[in-house]
Order: sequence, then C-alpha cells, then structure tokens
Amino acid sequence: MQGKAIIVSAPSGAGKTTIVKHLLKVMPQLNFSISACSRAKREEETDGTDYYFISAEKFREKITHDEFVEWQEVYPGSYYGTLKSEMDRIWSLGKTPIFDVDVVGAVNLKKYFGEHALGIFIHPPSIEELVNRLKKRGSESEETLRKRIDKAAYELTFAPHFDQIVVNDNLEVKCQEIVNLVKLFLP
Ligand code: ADP
Ligand code: 5GP
Repeated sequence: MQGKAIIVSAPSGAGKTTIVKHLLKVMPQLNFSISACSRAKREEETDGTDYYFISAEKFREKITHDEFVEWQEVYPGSYYGTLKSEMDRIWSLGKTPIFDVDVVGAVNLKKYFGEHALGIFIHPPSIEELVNRLKKRGSESEETLRKRIDKAAYELTFAPHFDQIVVNDNLEVKCQEIVNLVKLFLP
C-alpha cells in the first residue's frame, strides 16, 4: 500500500513543531510518524509514543532487512529512522503520516516518497528573529544557541529542495496557509 505523506522541516527555532502540532489538532486525517531509535529512553518519554526504542543490534538487523524508509546514525552508536511498518500502520488507519524532521531527514524522505509526499520548508523571517525565538523558548545555553544559529545558515540552503517554502512570520496566518496547502495535496 502506498499512501501520501507530509514532511515539515526547518532550521531549529523556525516554528516547525508549533506548526505540526497545529496541523495535528485541526486535521484528524493526519497522524504523527513515530521514529525508531537506539538511544536510551529518557525518563519522561514513552516507548511507542515518543519513539520506538530498540537496541542498536536490533536496529542494524532491521537495516539489513531493508525495513526502513530512511535512517541515520545521528550520534555515534545512536541510530534513528522511519520504519516502513510505521507507514503501513498509519495508512491502514486511513490516515496520512506527518513528519517533523531536520532538513537532511526531510530530503531523504522526499527522495523516497517522490510525488507522494508534500515537502514544506518553514523559513524564519530572518536570522535575527530565529535568535529571538530560540532565546524566548528558553531551551538553549549560549553554546547550543550559537551552534543552532551556525547550523541554520547551512540548513536554509536546503529550502529549494522542498515543494513549498513558507515564511513563518504571522503564526496564525501561516498555519492557515499550510492547512490549505495540505488540504489541496491530500485526496
Ligand atoms: P522548531 O520546532 O522549528 O525548533 P518551535 O516550534 O519550537 O520551533 O518554535 C520556536 C519558538 O518560536 C517557540 O517558542 C514558538 O512558540 C515560537 N514561534 C513559533 N512560530 C512563531 C511565530 N510565527 N511568531 C513568533 N513566535 C513563534
Ligand atoms: P533526540 O535524541 O534529541 O530525540 O533527537 C536527536 C536527533 O535525531 C534530532 O536531530 C532529530 O531530528 C533526529 N531524528 C529523530 N528521528 C529521526 C528519524 O526518524 N530519522 C532521522 N534521520 N533523524 C531523526
């Protein structure tokens, strides 16, 4: 079975998580794609909700058996990826998987799904505004903030690989614009 997929990506702080949460709230036909990963589960996380937590050995076995849509060794020994079985689970519910992923993961997913996927790039209005949002979110130290900003300039070069580029200035307006894009794309 081959259904459709929605891929949302952006540099960190541009607003992709906020936008994906909104889409999931207002579009019940979408279902969040849960990745598999081999890192240890954090205390606040739930297996099968945040990730499917499996051992590195099991992960490598699944790679050998071609069970992934895409995967990456994000940190040495820590594998992350999307299982083909996760797509089948969502499509068999009559729903469309939605991904909230970094730009490299997004480009790999788009390669796999081709025209069956809508790739949406969330563009920050400016680097200055990206810094403001990351500071306001309060999730970063001086060091991780600088790393994310340095990475953002590189990540912005990926924008032309996407089907749609949306500048996330006015959140409410842009959420509605993206809902309309998704509605146009889905059957
Ligand atoms: P990402 O998932 O891309 O890292 P988030 O969704 O966590 O980004 O958004 C980063 C911060 O910016 C959050 O605090 C969020 O509330 C805020 N934010 C998102 N979109 C906007 C917007 N259009 N205007 C102002 N703030 C926003
Ligand atoms: P964390 O360990 O903080 O949950 O995630 C670490 C990194 O793994 C993040 O950058 C996240 O984007 C990436 N990641 C999560 N799931 C996947 C996936 O399915 N595929 C890929 N390629 N990366 C993923």
